[in-house]
Amino acid sequence: MTYSRRKTRQLVLGNVGIGSNSEVSVQSMTTTKTRNTDKTLEQIYALAANGADIVRVTCNEIEAAESLVKICTRSPVPIVADIHFQYKLALAAIEAGVQGLRLNPGNIRNEDQIKQIAKECLSADIPIRIGVNAGSLDKDLLEKFGDATPEALVESALNEVKYLEEVNFFNIKISVKHSNVPLMIDSYRLLAEKVDYPLHLGVTEAGPLPGGLIKSTAGIATLLSEGIGDTIRMSLTTDPIEEAKHGRQLLEYLGLRERKSLDLIACPSCGRAEVDVIKVASEAQAALENEGLSIQVAVMGCVVNGPGEARSADIGIAAGKKRGHLFIKGEVVKVVDEKDMVSALLEEGRLLAEEGIEARLAAADKDAALLAQQDAEELMGIQGDINNFEERTKSVIEITSNQDKPK
Ligand code: SF4
Repeated sequence: MTYSRRKTRQLVLGNVGIGSNSEVSVQSMTTTKTRNTDKTLEQIYALAANGADIVRVTCNEIEAAESLVKICTRSPVPIVADIHFQYKLALAAIEAGVQGLRLNPGNIRNEDQIKQIAKECLSADIPIRIGVNAGSLDKDLLEKFGDATPEALVESALNEVKYLEEVNFFNIKISVKHSNVPLMIDSYRLLAEKVDYPLHLGVTEAGPLPGGLIKSTAGIATLLSEGIGDTIRMSLTTDPIEEAKHGRQLLEYLGLRERKSLDLIACPSCGRAEVDVIKVASEAQAALENEGLSIQVAVMGCVVNGPGEARSADIGIAAGKKRGHLFIKGEVVKVVDEKDMVSALLEEGRLLAEEGIEARLAAADKDAALLAQQDAEELMGIQGDINNFEERTKSVIEITSNQDKPK
């Protein structure tokens, strides 16, 4: 299933298309001092390797602008310069060769300066993100609306759009970030009704993991599922590599980007589990993550339900009777000792990536399916067939409801 995207204008930022004709892209931001060229580039490379399509760096001093010359030349992904307060640094960043600018309307408020920046961006043919932030909203708007409401954020963005359009600049994308998730969602919904520019989504100051990730996911995924949003950033208070990685994963889980990373699914475990699912799942995650396999892998606690429940996974393993039942697309292909579950997954994962699903199904151990069925039946004998639960529950209710009522 795919979400139908809100129709927008189309931009190009370096080699990345932004808008409804392009895939939703992932952004992150460096945390190094931009003036430290090597360290910044090192982080940019790491971000790109972990899923960032675009990286933003702060341009907060003249040394940062100078460093941008080398950064832009050597970066594997387009660079956006983040500008606050000093419009001259925006001009310097354009000269340095950045592929995009982010301006905060709350911080650069002089109309002439904004127009001058726009004219330079027009000549350089690079887009500007109007990055409105609830925490740094124009004071006049705060007074007018009493708070950083969705209406206030959108008005701030539209005021800036007006300045840019007045100099025939339309190479615009917009963000209206709020740290409060419902207000963030409402702000973007309101903005999406008013403009057809691409939107950059984010929950600002979302905080450290896991709360920051939950807030970002709640806000961004809600909007993406409504077709709103063309590029995203998870603003997490942690190593920015996590932002890139989780941003990319979110898009993959929503079916908005092709899977390029491992997707490890695991049952939550329950009283039927025949193995420590949490331990096996985390060991499997660690072992498989660095392999660069773009497959879905399942770790299931019991063979009674495991292979069937995870039949959509490319490969998986289910525990039972001190053994691991390795399955491909729900079909058991091998039975291994419980202690070898993770290594068996790793080996089969590699072979699957090399040979494909059909070949690996054809190479299945002949007696594996039968062995798995026997283990499952034995376990059902011990634990009871989960499919009979409904029937039994009815009987239990019948017995309890027929009991004499207390007088
Ligand atoms: S797969 Fe088995 S152990 Fe895991 S949640 Fe389902 S019934 Fe429980």
